Amino acid sequence: MTERKTRVRFAPSPTGPLHIGGVRTALYNYLYAKQHGGTFVLRIEDTDSHRFVPGAEQYIIEALRWCGINPDEGVDENGKVVETASPKHPYGPYRQSQRRGIYREYAERLVASGNAYYAFDTPEELAAKREEAESQGQTFTYNQVSRMQLRNSLTLSKEECERLLAGTTGWTIRFKMPENTVVEMDDLIRGHISVNTDTLDDKVLWKRADELPTYHLANIVDDHLMEITEVIRGEEWLPSLPLHYLLYRAFGWQDSQPRFAHLSLLLKPSGQGKLSKRDGDKLGFPVFPLEWVSPEGEVTRGYREDGYFPGAFVNMLAFLGWNPGDEREILSLPELVEAFSLERVIKSGARFNPEKAKWYNKEYLRMSPDSELAEAFMPVLKAQGLELDPAYVTKAISVIKDRATFVADFWTAAPYLFQAPSSFNEKDCAKFWKEENYAHLPEVREHIASYSGAMEVGAIAESLEGYIKGNEWPLGKVMNCLRLALTGAASGLGIAEIIYTIGIGETVRRIDYAFKTLGK
Ligand code: GLU
Repeated sequence: MTERKTRVRFAPSPTGPLHIGGVRTALYNYLYAKQHGGTFVLRIEDTDSHRFVPGAEQYIIEALRWCGINPDEGVDENGKVVETASPKHPYGPYRQSQRRGIYREYAERLVASGNAYYAFDTPEELAAKREEAESQGQTFTYNQVSRMQLRNSLTLSKEECERLLAGTTGWTIRFKMPENTVVEMDDLIRGHISVNTDTLDDKVLWKRADELPTYHLANIVDDHLMEITEVIRGEEWLPSLPLHYLLYRAFGWQDSQPRFAHLSLLLKPSGQGKLSKRDGDKLGFPVFPLEWVSPEGEVTRGYREDGYFPGAFVNMLAFLGWNPGDEREILSLPELVEAFSLERVIKSGARFNPEKAKWYNKEYLRMSPDSELAEAFMPVLKAQGLELDPAYVTKAISVIKDRATFVADFWTAAPYLFQAPSSFNEKDCAKFWKEENYAHLPEVREHIASYSGAMEVGAIAESLEGYIKGNEWPLGKVMNCLRLALTGAASGLGIAEIIYTIGIGETVRRIDYAFKTLGK
């Protein structure tokens, strides 16, 4: 086989918001494509109209864009081709519903070669078969035995078939599963797998009723026509692999068939069972990249809205089931591209750890420039009705950065850096605003007023402590009094950090206000 240019695809069905497991599949495809200098295709598999959910396709596109894993070919939210492939290779359209004209011919080809057949059973007939099997404690499958007792092109006369094909619309084309054949398969993650076809059923490939293919046919035909070289997808598709191998064989495409890699599932934090779409609400962390508002108006939280950086989210996802084989944990998208390999993807399920997700965000926050964080924090301040100088906000952030995991934490950690207290905690006042303590504050105020604005946190701390101790005043009590005046409560950042941030003038003003409000 000649070396082909790497082309991989992410092929979601727009049946709802993309779960983080799906984003990880997209990410691994992207990393693989970029590492091999190849193409990452986004194909929308929307042939199952019963499961179609409005808005899901836009959600998928927006989620990938937020993560920075942009397709080279595919559709944008308006259904336009993101990048046109070479005119010699018209790979698109990339939405299967727009390709519906393509599939019938391929299904008919399989009938002609004896690999598929027309099935005329009505839903009622199949339901009766199922009931009959159940009454005998068995499950009905459409296979080599049962197919010969049903109405299809293998059991009916040619004339009868032609009459039904022309005159009815309830028929389907089914794959004729070969008898007692061992399918030998290779998976890039799981190694060699073999399955006997006697355990498999005759899947529907194409339906006359809506003139649409099923997932199996559309998926194989499109992977072939789009010249996909590796199929990297979730483990839930592993049971379909023998059929897919057989379809490639039936079409005579086995020499150019893609290689397969099935990714393990994401597990709940307990390690017990698969991480499901509902776990987020139950366990208190998002399982979706972006917030999702269902067509019924139900809101489900997302990583973006919870304040995660896309880089942190992507980094965390990459490490769910893969690692670079060394100590590194923080890798940017280009570094991930460099380090990624399917060989290092684990076979077992990857346990999701919401604490690790937070750890990643904290690390990314720590690495972000203060000025960028300030910019991201402005809307939080705005929501509080505050419009502050970006240079001031940047300075404040440099002081509290280490205490934050999310940008919004800058506010919750120390609102008094951005807004003077207008009230004082009653309990703290009762405890600390006592004459023997606040009696020293006017002198402390004068001392602070003498500081130069250029003093750093360390110098302020040293000078202030030295001054209070030198006067033999009770350090802790005076400090608590001062903190109450500056923050409105007796807990919070170090006094020197507060003075350094808000400045000498504001410090003095707050002490005066405390005296005015709390009295002597
Ligand atoms: N449409 C399938 C899905 O929703 C694609 C599976 C595959 O990648 O083959 O996951």
